[in-house]
Amino acid sequence: MDHFHYRDRALFCEDVAVADLATEYGTPLYVYSRATLLHHLRQIQTAFAAAEPLICYSLKTNGNIHIGRLMAEHGAGFDVTSGGELYRALASGGVGEKIVFAGVGKTDDEIRTALDVNIRFFNVESEEELANIGEIARSRGQKARVALRVNPDLPPKTHVKTDTSVKGVKFGLDIETVVEVAGQYVGHPSVEIVGLHMHLGSPILSVEPYRMGAAKALDLIEKLRRQGHRVTHLNMGGGFGIHYRKQEALPASAFAEVLVPAAKQSGCQLVLEPGRFIVGNAGILLSRVLYTKSTGGKHYVIQDAAMNDLIRPTLYESFHRIWPVRPADGFPAPPSDYEVEIPGTRRCDVVGPVCESGDFLARERWLPPVSRGELLATFSAGAYGMSMSSNYNGRPRAAEVLVDGSRHRLIRRRETYEDLVRPEREVPA
Ligand SMILES: *Cc1c(COP(=O)(O)O)cnc(C)c1O
Repeated sequence: MDHFHYRDRALFCEDVAVADLATEYGTPLYVYSRATLLHHLRQIQTAFAAAEPLICYSLKTNGNIHIGRLMAEHGAGFDVTSGGELYRALASGGVGEKIVFAGVGKTDDEIRTALDVNIRFFNVESEEELANIGEIARSRGQKARVALRVNPDLPPKTHVKTDTSVKGVKFGLDIETVVEVAGQYVGHPSVEIVGLHMHLGSPILSVEPYRMGAAKALDLIEKLRRQGHRVTHLNMGGGFGIHYRKQEALPASAFAEVLVPAAKQSGCQLVLEPGRFIVGNAGILLSRVLYTKSTGGKHYVIQDAAMNDLIRPTLYESFHRIWPVRPADGFPAPPSDYEVEIPGTRRCDVVGPVCESGDFLARERWLPPVSRGELLATFSAGAYGMSMSSNYNGRPRAAEVLVDGSRHRLIRRRETYEDLVRPEREVPA
């Protein structure tokens, strides 16, 4: 469910013609629907209501502070993975008690800043990190709250680059060692183990991993309690999948059916860290066709968005629906099945201007005829789009626009060439 739809053969975001946004703000342009964002946040809030969860929006998914503010205003906290994201969380109106902090390489500065704002807890990923947090807290006369991040060692679920709970990845403590590590912190003066954390990977299109993960978590929580820890938080991370290709995602209620009973059984406060589920389908990347050409037996559509704007296809072989904003006669809306040839379409590689053969948004994709100057929409680009963008090839980052009904406003201006060189100019001569 999203608020991008075709009316009279033109793409709209809520009540705004997307072509008008391209005229006003230029391309490439990220366009977000406020209604879709809030719809998905509400879906999780409603589905999990019986557990009264703390929903910490995962800021690495899309860190724009205006989106963050929407999340905070509607009850969400934040899951951050760095000092920079902690800064964004606070700039979005986030408060320490609703912020959790994960990541395998937290620096001393980051730990101190998080203690300064009294975050809910650290999701701790190694024994050394735990000792370091304890030491920093001790030196400040504080007690640090931590959840132990466990790698539950589950079967593979997603792309090898996004699976975070198979044996051998860098995340978390091995499930075999968690209890032993926790044993050293019973009654510790500056560390309080208040929770258990798992983030299984992303995007996940089945409840099975959550069922298996939760079972392992319950077992561990019981063991930690027997040691004397007051474990009060069960943090099951994020990872809920979304529609990229067709209607493949599960509703939030499917995950809730597994996780709410587990939370109740544990007697813990349930914490969730959804990112993609909230913002993924709420954004599109709008681009304009620069040229088309046929070479080497292939047809290329060269448009002004590139891997620096949306790296998921290049990095993960991800699939994003792409369709003209004003499709030619006879092509009303994107197809529901991309695997079969659509009559009248042409098989294209949709590529950007960056000097890499790996710079593409789609390969071997059936598209209606498009020509120079036309607008294309790349769908489901709200998550890990802008937040993973870069300035590679001297490309200023895209602008971002938030649509609300028939209104729209810029929530990040397009970068300028001067933005590209400013940090290099601002150094001592
Ligand atoms: C990336 C990440 C998330 C968010 O994952 P989604 O699939 O976007 O929901 C949550 N928690 C942690 C620890 C993460 O690294």
